[in-house]
Amino acid sequence: MPSALAHAPRPIHKVLIANRGEIAWRILRTAREMGIETVAVFSEADRMAPHVRHADWAFPIGPAPSSASYLRGESLIRLALEQGCQAIHPGYGFLSENAAFAKAVEEAGLVLVGPSSRSMEAMGNKVAAKQAVAGYEIPLVPGTDHPVSDPVQAAEIAQAIGFPLLIKAAAGGGGKGMRIVNRLEELHESLHLAISEASNAFGDGAVFLEKYIANPRHIEIQLMADDYGHTVYLFERECSIQRRHQKLVEEAPSSCLDTDLRKAMGEAAVRVAQACGYRNAGTVEFLLDQDNRFYFLEMNTRLQVEHPVTECITGLDLVRLQFEMAAGLPLTLHQEDLRINGHSIELRICAEDPRNQFLPDLGKLIRFQPPQGPGVRLDSGYEEGMDIPVHYDPLLAKLIVHAPNRLAAIARMKRALDEFELAGPATTLDFGRWVMEQSAFVEGRFDTGFIAQYFRGAESLDTPLPPWESTASESPLSLSEEIAIATAVLQHQSFSQGHPSTPVQSQSNPAPGASDAWQRLWNP
Ligand code: ADP
Repeated sequence: MPSALAHAPRPIHKVLIANRGEIAWRILRTAREMGIETVAVFSEADRMAPHVRHADWAFPIGPAPSSASYLRGESLIRLALEQGCQAIHPGYGFLSENAAFAKAVEEAGLVLVGPSSRSMEAMGNKVAAKQAVAGYEIPLVPGTDHPVSDPVQAAEIAQAIGFPLLIKAAAGGGGKGMRIVNRLEELHESLHLAISEASNAFGDGAVFLEKYIANPRHIEIQLMADDYGHTVYLFERECSIQRRHQKLVEEAPSSCLDTDLRKAMGEAAVRVAQACGYRNAGTVEFLLDQDNRFYFLEMNTRLQVEHPVTECITGLDLVRLQFEMAAGLPLTLHQEDLRINGHSIELRICAEDPRNQFLPDLGKLIRFQPPQGPGVRLDSGYEEGMDIPVHYDPLLAKLIVHAPNRLAAIARMKRALDEFELAGPATTLDFGRWVMEQSAFVEGRFDTGFIAQYFRGAESLDTPLPPWESTASESPLSLSEEIAIATAVLQHQSFSQGHPSTPVQSQSNPAPGASDAWQRLWNP
């Protein structure tokens, strides 16, 4: 099949996918649908990985440690050229936000499926990003827009910002390189430690100070931009359920945005893109405080792990759009035509133990039978029988559901989790089930402190809550009633005895008085 991009300004017939795991397979799928030939790469640890089998060609690139394989940019570029590829898709992680790699790809005459190296440079560093958006009416978290290393100067700034505050690494990422400072007396030592941690972890000791926003929600806006200055926002994702400042559950749309706030944040995100001449898929991250004021955190210049929830609610294939933008095609989407369809939730299934502070776990996937059925999607990098290598991120797969509205999506996620058969290492599966059962989550009353506030490890997971606690709302019966119905409809099973709103048995036979709630649940 000829490539769908054969006649584009920068035709792409063949792509090298410089990644592994679920994202490599995800990219392969779209490339195949578009008629683009695929070249996969794999380290010694990934010989048996599905992305290797599903690609048109696959090449070993070295031993398991990523520094000896997936991070060897020059070898990857050489391989792409030898194999006659026109493009490299970096996925996320590894080299995806490395401006020097992007530049080398451009200089080799290849297309990077992503933004230009210049935009990456502008946004790759949190301090540089703050400077780049100055003058574009982007609200910033109060703090410094330059690196701070002098303790005397830091103390003056800290007193102006107030406590608690955060010391953040300019080159930080993946939730790493942040330190909370609660009092002036802690500042000196914390600054010293933060600088040395930043230089060890990122090879760059630059740090800056930022106000610590109390109980924020993490809301990010998905963007897509072409070469010709046209950018649209594909609405928001809420990613407030985090451990170690890293996301575990994401959803779209957010339960706390109304139309006006969504538009204001979307338009601010588009201005961020304009500030750096952005092309391709990108995400602008914001914190939303308790008074609904939003603040720019950073821009991620790549496809995000959580992109599928946006795909579900927009009906778009973001990887396809990425290929089209990279090939130089114009974006044919218009902001005014874009609509949110239903609700989508993603759970990251990581090989880590929620009973033991989410520390990584290892082992063989003895059983791995994902759920199926309406509105359920699984993006996985693993199959039954595979060993989980120690060398990489513990993300095994992503379970994504889509339903007409949020409560139906929660019920669908619970049903899918009940169906999931997984044995081997400890994973976040039962943690995901626990999240779906918390009334704070169900009612949308949560922030980035959700796990710290409610989750008690084994105690939370191994002590089942009575149903009236797990889904109860403060006063009205309607919410628990709706959840009861959603669960009954999706699982064909009734709640335990004693639930305040005794359930219906099936979709066709709702309980007396419940039909309105049932209607609301399934109609967006
Ligand atoms: P990274 O690039 O490492 O992911 P971010 O700046 O994107 O770092 O922040 C990750 C998470 O850290 C946010 O979602 C939020 O939970 C927390 N965080 C970051 N900055 C602040 C802040 N100023 N106040 C409160 N929480 C913050």
